[in-house]
Amino acid sequence: MALRKIVVEGDEVLRKRSREVSQVDDRIRMILDDMLETMRDYDGVGIAAPQVGILKRIFIVEAEEGDVLEAVNPEILSMEGLVAGEEGCLSVPGYFGTVERPEKVRLRAQDRNGEFFEIEAEGLKAVAICHEYDHLEGVLFTDKASGIREAGEE
Ligand SMILES: [Zn+2]
Repeated sequence: MALRKIVVEGDEVLRKRSREVSQVDDRIRMILDDMLETMRDYDGVGIAAPQVGILKRIFIVEAEEGDVLEAVNPEILSMEGLVAGEEGCLSVPGYFGTVERPEKVRLRAQDRNGEFFEIEAEGLKAVAICHEYDHLEGVLFTDKASGIREAGEE
């Protein structure tokens, strides 16, 4: 495994739509390993491939320590409810804002072996899934947030 550099806002790669993964192979598994290590190094709860400069439809969410969700070619099948919460992003360091997200989502994706699975998530995990999914579409939380402020401001 290797740490990757986090791409920050201003880099065009964060604004592009990521491409489907055609085959989940060793290279994809290596990217997943590196993404997890990098996310944990930055104390993140989620990371998407474009954030490490790779325009592929892959993200990882670890809303609770040890509960690692690896999603390749994810699709959000349904959303339910709406909650407003505080968000930040490894690619927009030092900024926070309030974003409205669904309370619950149903996700379909492929795992690191290429097997399809579906899960339901709620709370922080659902929020993180939506946030990371947006990265695959070139969307940042600051596009949707209100009250964006720098960390440390009252
Ligand atoms: Zn982010």
